[in-house]
Amino acid sequence: MSGSALSTRCVIAGGGPAGMVCGTLLARAGIDVIVLEKHADFLRDFRGDTVHPSTLEVFYELGLLDEFLALPHQEVRHLHMDIGGQRFIIGDFTHLPTHCKFIALMPQWDLLNFLARKARAFPNFRLLMQTKASTLIKERGEVVGLRAQTREGELNISAGLVIGADGRHSTIRAQAGFVPQEFGSPIDVIWFRLPLKLSDPKEPVARLAAGRFLVMLYRGDYWQCAFVVPKGGFEHILHEGIDAFQARLASIAGFAADRVDTITNFDDVSLLTVRVDRLKRWAKPGLLCIGDAAHAMSPVGGVGINLAVQDAVATANILWKALKLGRPTVEELNRVQARRELPTRLTQSAQVLIQNRIVAPTLALEGELKPPIAMKLLDWFPVLRRIPARLVGIGVRPEHVSKELRVWNGTAQPRIS
Ligand SMILES: Cc1cc2nc3c(=O)[nH]c(=O)nc-3n(C[C@H](O)[C@H](O)[C@H](O)COP(=O)(O)OP(=O)(O)OC[C@H]3O[C@@H](n4cnc5c(N)ncnc54)[C@H](O)[C@@H]3O)c2cc1C
Repeated sequence: MSGSALSTRCVIAGGGPAGMVCGTLLARAGIDVIVLEKHADFLRDFRGDTVHPSTLEVFYELGLLDEFLALPHQEVRHLHMDIGGQRFIIGDFTHLPTHCKFIALMPQWDLLNFLARKARAFPNFRLLMQTKASTLIKERGEVVGLRAQTREGELNISAGLVIGADGRHSTIRAQAGFVPQEFGSPIDVIWFRLPLKLSDPKEPVARLAAGRFLVMLYRGDYWQCAFVVPKGGFEHILHEGIDAFQARLASIAGFAADRVDTITNFDDVSLLTVRVDRLKRWAKPGLLCIGDAAHAMSPVGGVGINLAVQDAVATANILWKALKLGRPTVEELNRVQARRELPTRLTQSAQVLIQNRIVAPTLALEGELKPPIAMKLLDWFPVLRRIPARLVGIGVRPEHVSKELRVWNGTAQPRIS
């Protein structure tokens, strides 16, 4: 395919949640769209697995919910947290004004494969795997396409719009000259698996104690675990050695303490560096960044996937008509940022506050951790548990698929009224 060329209305760099949802929605609207994913498949670990009620509501609006929920998943109706050995319910999703009053835990590759299957049903949708966006093509200062590397060689794609949905190390935003504002993060995450036993609970576990914080996600046949450490703390853990790491884990792992010795060396774990950043401008003529490419999210609250999905829905709602007619203007592209910037700012501010004021000080603490008064309030007044559930499950300014894009029934495409 050396030096080969394609032309499309919209090319999206990145087949993560933002890129795949945006591609699926634009394909439903009858727009010619190409999504590029640099990997050969979606089978990568170390990504969030939480599909929140707001995202499930989008699937409901698209008529895809039943099929989606037929895939293996776990439903989390309450969020629990163990603090200093005491158990608290910190979120109650059962009262949300959504069709699904739970978080669905599903490996992200199942979510992305599902979207790919749905989008591929449209002849105007193309998903190019093992295709890495590398350079923006510009004419008279405007973006008019991108260059990508495939296994066969270079591919030039000309497009009315390039969407950068290529995550927090985005090539597209760097190519556009966009420099994100960094908000720092005092934490990193060590990611690993622990075996499951039949007697284990089947819901996520979050355990917080002085100097230690462990989250365990039930994955059906194993536990996906996130051990939170202070930024740079992994070096210290490496220095201490694997026995000391096992001992640290055992002291916080509760029912799973009996199997921490399955982590036999540091090849069994991965370090995920956490960053929180945001672009000042998400768009320029011919180009728009969405999802983590526009605003890298911290894992706090597990809301990054859902913000990426919300960006994708807003992008399709705002731009589909312009894309059907041709090339959106930069004013139209800016409307996506105008719509999504406030929810992003508020969510990131909350994440930074929790990272800096709760997680980092707890990790620095020695001795005993006493549950904060807020936890006790949630215990005394269960109605208060609905507040964190709403913030995490729905968030600020949830997006709904526009009516025209909802009704596509496979025979007629939405009309521009
Ligand atoms: C440790 C950690 C844990 C997290 N846990 C959760 C969680 O539990 N729940 C949650 O909701 N969020 C979580 N997040 C945040 C979440 O992972 C992101 O916010 C979310 O994945 C963003 O989606 P996206 O589609 O914008 O980007 P990504 O998911 O990063 O997807 C980008 C895609 O683009 C591809 N790509 C990159 N460069 C190129 C290129 N040049 N050409 C073509 N393709 C390219 C990548 O392979 C990838 O598939 C976590 C984050 C971290 C750091």
